[in-house]
Amino acid sequence: MQKGNIGVTTDNIFPVIKKFLYSDHEIFLRELVSNAVDATQKLKTLASVNEYKGDMGDLTVQVKADKDAGTLTISDHGIGMTEEEIDKYINQIAFSGAEEFLEKYKNDANAIIGHFGLGFYSSFMVSKKVEIITKSYKEGSKAVKWSCDGSPEYTIEEIDKAERGTDIVLYIEDENKEFLEDAKITELLNKYCKFLAIPVAFGKKKEWKDGKQVETAEDNIINNTKPAWTQKPADLTDEDYKKFYHELYPYADDPLFNIHLNVDYPFNLTGILYFPKIKNNIEIQKNKIQLYCNQVFVTDSVEGIVPEFLTLLHGVIDSPDIPLNVSRSYLQSDSNVKKISNHITKKVADRLQEIFNQQRSDFEEKWDNLKIFIEYGILTDEKFAERAEKFALLKNVDGKYFTLDEYKTLIEANQTDKDKNIIYLYATNKDEQYTYINAAKEKGYDVLFLDGQLDVHFISKLEQKSEGKCRFVRVDSDVIEKLIQKEDTQKVDLSANDQDALSIIFNTQLPSNDKSSFIVTFENLSSNGQPAYITQNEFMRRMKEMAATQGGMNFYGEMPDSYNMVVNAAHPLIQRILKDENEACQAKAAPILEKIAELNKKRADLKGDKSESDLAEAIKDEIKKIDDELTANNKSKKAIFEEFSKNSKEVKQLVDLTLLSNNLLKGEALSEFIKRSFDMI
Ligand code: ADP
Repeated sequence: MQKGNIGVTTDNIFPVIKKFLYSDHEIFLRELVSNAVDATQKLKTLASVNEYKGDMGDLTVQVKADKDAGTLTISDHGIGMTEEEIDKYINQIAFSGAEEFLEKYKNDANAIIGHFGLGFYSSFMVSKKVEIITKSYKEGSKAVKWSCDGSPEYTIEEIDKAERGTDIVLYIEDENKEFLEDAKITELLNKYCKFLAIPVAFGKKKEWKDGKQVETAEDNIINNTKPAWTQKPADLTDEDYKKFYHELYPYADDPLFNIHLNVDYPFNLTGILYFPKIKNNIEIQKNKIQLYCNQVFVTDSVEGIVPEFLTLLHGVIDSPDIPLNVSRSYLQSDSNVKKISNHITKKVADRLQEIFNQQRSDFEEKWDNLKIFIEYGILTDEKFAERAEKFALLKNVDGKYFTLDEYKTLIEANQTDKDKNIIYLYATNKDEQYTYINAAKEKGYDVLFLDGQLDVHFISKLEQKSEGKCRFVRVDSDVIEKLIQKEDTQKVDLSANDQDALSIIFNTQLPSNDKSSFIVTFENLSSNGQPAYITQNEFMRRMKEMAATQGGMNFYGEMPDSYNMVVNAAHPLIQRILKDENEACQAKAAPILEKIAELNKKRADLKGDKSESDLAEAIKDEIKKIDDELTANNKSKKAIFEEFSKNSKEVKQLVDLTLLSNNLLKGEALSEFIKRSFDMI
């Protein structure tokens, strides 16, 4: 037996390994199993070029736990190592500048292992002693056993070993006993080794016999050695892609589409990305893409490697060229990684374009599910946005789909307003906005259906891009006559006093609370239409909606919903209410109105064209007196019209019906309305 010291420049790497690599202990198994797989693949390569002529035998890598002995053994039948090779690859580890580096990356085992080529040594994170029992494929090699107990001292001796290959025996530390549990090992193998290229066996297959699970003679292979992404797209059917998807995500719905990536220049990358079916919460769906390096699982947090919006996709990416064993911050600044990210974006866009070109109806059918990805991409990635312009779709309320260009062509002639803006009408709820949709359709307008959670941001983006030439307007944001204004609107033929009276009368019956506010306005609209409409200003509503999806409260988020009650002055019912009001209120109101007019005139005369501050004190006092009088008179005037309003079933019914047609009549108000309506019959 020979003794020696492991060749490290720093005192001892073992305390370092244990101390610093606490976060990712479990990766030791990934490192050891992938070493075993590498050694096996090397043997296969040698055999293929005739440098190894012996019998290959069974190449399965075996993982075995022996709870009684407290050992975990990883065995392969790969190339093995000679004593010289152990000395070269295991004993001599370059380790300069270690401390500084370790301090920097102490929470990132991947970085440390990668930096120092310490894959094998990660076994000391969980073991008190490690043995390598190995026999090289080279003819005449002697088998050796290397042993080390976690001090820089190791022993090496010749032993008998019949078969070619390597056993790594870990004597698991007491505090790491969990790594001897079947369930834990299975979990780790499933996570890291599921798609390794050489079969890996953990124990034997079990079957039910006489109500008990019993072991069979067959190896329990834990991996699929030929996962779909390593195969040629031409050899795979849709079914194969779906099957692989479910291998990755057993409980997910079928995906919408897949994209098979296969790049060999300027870097190597393979993989399959899937568009999953998602409807609601974007956040929850993130981080499903798995990153592999030569079929070894590395991570499922791929931010920085794939563009942000593609983190919503599912699937795998495998690249030996992504520097995996480095820290995240390094990864994100790496130019190779940026290239990869851009390339993936391009590939995804190309594939979507291809599906759109070749199977448009299929594309349309899946659009509702697909659109969240595409809108997210358009909103967050300029490069993608440029490409997606050609296949992003708009859907109208009749369920027809159009590209952006097609839709523009469709509506341009009929939906351009007097300022040469193209107005895109849309609805977000077909039931609630039914009346408005219908009115727009009757005018020959087309109405889009935008009910997606990113739509409000998406249309703002389209508006910005058009530089003001196109505007999106929800069908209920104004009365139909003004939705797309083609000429100046007709003047309202109501006197100021009449407008004022009607304002008070309707306001009295409109709900007043801190969640919604109403402003009464007047228009001369068609006398066949409704006597009044509720509209909601597009800008304010959209600001509120955007504030809501961005989370947190802010200025717009806290504003009440503001509505307009647009009164149709040309409608016979309004004319009648006005007539009734005149009859009921004029006797009382006329003298007050006269007084108000007189006071206003007096005030104007006193003030002249001077500004308030330039007035003499005496005049200021007099104006103040007039103002007080005006306030009192206005109050009396208001009381007269309020009184009329409160006693008018007609006004109340009209306001309620108008609210009802916008789904704004609720709770007590609704039940009162129903009762009143029954009484009226
Ligand atoms: P890396 O794999 O990154 O080179 P490791 O510390 O994991 O670093 O391994 C060092 C070297 O030891 C490997 O490059 C390989 O030559 C050798 N080695 C490790 N495990 C085995 C094995 N199971 N069979 C043959 N050689 C091995």
